[in-house]
Amino acid sequence: MRASQFFVSTLKEAPSDAEIVSHKLMLRAGLIRKVAAGIYTYMPMGLRVIRKVENIVREEMDRAGALELTMPMVQPAELWQETGRWDKMGDELLRFKDRHERDFALQPTSEEVITDTARQELKSYRQLPKNFYQIQTKFRDERRPRFGVMRGREFTMKDAYSFDRDVDAAGRSYDAMYAAYCRIFDRMGLTYRAVAADTGAIGGDRSHEFQVIADTGEDAIVYCPQSDYAANIELAEALPLLASRAAPGADLVKTPTPGKATCADVAALLGVPLETTVKSLVLATDDVDEAGQPAGVTVWLLLVRGDHELNEVKAGKLEGLKNGFRFASEAEILEHFGCKPGYLGPIGLLKPVKVVADRTVANMADFICGANAEDFHYTGANWGRDLPEPDLVADIRNVVAGDPSPDGKGELAIQRGIEVGHVFYLGTKYSKAMNATFLDEDGRPKPFEMGCYGIGITRIPGAAIEQNHDERGIIWPDAIAPFQAVICPVGWGRSEAVRDTATALYEALRAAGIDAILDDRDERPGVMFADWELVGVPHRITIGDRGLKEGQVEYQGRRDAEATKLAVDGLAEAVL
Ligand code: ATP
Ligand code: MG
Ligand code: MG
Ligand code: MG
Repeated sequence: MRASQFFVSTLKEAPSDAEIVSHKLMLRAGLIRKVAAGIYTYMPMGLRVIRKVENIVREEMDRAGALELTMPMVQPAELWQETGRWDKMGDELLRFKDRHERDFALQPTSEEVITDTARQELKSYRQLPKNFYQIQTKFRDERRPRFGVMRGREFTMKDAYSFDRDVDAAGRSYDAMYAAYCRIFDRMGLTYRAVAADTGAIGGDRSHEFQVIADTGEDAIVYCPQSDYAANIELAEALPLLASRAAPGADLVKTPTPGKATCADVAALLGVPLETTVKSLVLATDDVDEAGQPAGVTVWLLLVRGDHELNEVKAGKLEGLKNGFRFASEAEILEHFGCKPGYLGPIGLLKPVKVVADRTVANMADFICGANAEDFHYTGANWGRDLPEPDLVADIRNVVAGDPSPDGKGELAIQRGIEVGHVFYLGTKYSKAMNATFLDEDGRPKPFEMGCYGIGITRIPGAAIEQNHDERGIIWPDAIAPFQAVICPVGWGRSEAVRDTATALYEALRAAGIDAILDDRDERPGVMFADWELVGVPHRITIGDRGLKEGQVEYQGRRDAEATKLAVDGLAEAVL
């Protein structure tokens, strides 16, 4: 590519609404331009990065045996109604009507459509396993689109869906995708960690997020430097860690749960919409009457909601799940637990789907805490009073750096990450809901065992930049750079020697399969260097008359402090 025929459109300043460095640099380097909140045009320079990301993903998906197809962006409501997600998805699902008043949605993901395809196409166990994927535009009407393409509303995702005969085969499909994801992110030159993630209603231990490590990441992850334990902090709040922080003598018991508050109960209680993102819900009770009777059960409830931010804290007091709820003030609740404001203390965490109200007399005799698994409770725990104040990340968490790792092999450390991929075993959740079956060897219909596997194609450039930049601009890993090398001729318009050497090198690099750009704009060196350093091209060769007289040109890697001299003779070989 010649720069005079390309589109280089750099800015000195980023628009003021760009909060983090990747967003600023993508705008300044002319990779993207904003069209509306969370909706961007990928300019030619940005699209080159996206295409390279896509190609790596496509190659590795193909290598892993997955088959590419494309599903429609516009999807009929009927399919989404079959799984109940038409109602459950909330406002993230963008819905609209066609001219015949029929309901449609823009795909935020495509389990419904692919399951519909599978039930029509995959009739026999002989056709299994199958893994279909697409690299396609997604739309999620995110409550808070931000950070440019990292949390866009319209974005590109690679989404794959596996169909298997049984649980074991589904495990193999999952492992193959996990391995493919490692290859993908290795090839992209990213520093990442695969962490165990919440499996929600599906259960089991087969859900991993691929997190690019960056301080600006919206997720917090815990890992053990002494072992391979790593989990999203949301998951790390679960049982083993709670146990590690319980007062001595605390016991984890399985109890019957006669009264359960539903998500709807909690939402109504807190006066928030049902689809509110609940990051943490803390439930505890110590209120029993003298006889240990459950009559006056008091449940303290702390809710933190918001998009990965500690931006809203609600404290509520439920006075007996049977008798309705009443809010306690935050001050009241902090005082109750002896916490300082801002510190909500490790009391016990629940997710709203798992809010459990325990009213058996035996359990009410002691302090009882909910734990992050249905039907499990601690008795005899003393949360919140004598524990040290945790650091910021763990403010509302039960996990602090230095906690023992659940595998017993060391201490936990905390990091922030950007979720660039997610592999998820789905079981028969969708196949059962949509009656998607195949005939097994015994002639009986069986629902498919499924898995789904996403990669945030357009989130990846942002994540890569968060990890690789300096004060001058982006530093692309070679594999996803818009151009691998730039040739900067000094005096293009006036020196034939410069033009000839630059052109010959450009052609040699191209012939060797290097994605090079020749800056033939006849700009001053300062302008060329500033542009290409901002754009983040990893390798630069500068050719000028002065150097040529000595038979030399200059090479500088984007991370190098200084240029090194290379002989013109054998230049292409030296650069390659
Ligand atoms: P997040 O927790 O960041 O909201 P998610 O868990 O909702 O992501 P998944 O449903 O797992 O996302 O989708 C698969 C991948 O798609 C994610 O791992 C992420 O890389 C990407 N992705 C999800 N939402 C967005 C978005 N709004 N903008 C860009 N990429 C996204
Ligand atoms: Mg999301
Ligand atoms: Mg997530
Ligand atoms: Mg996810």
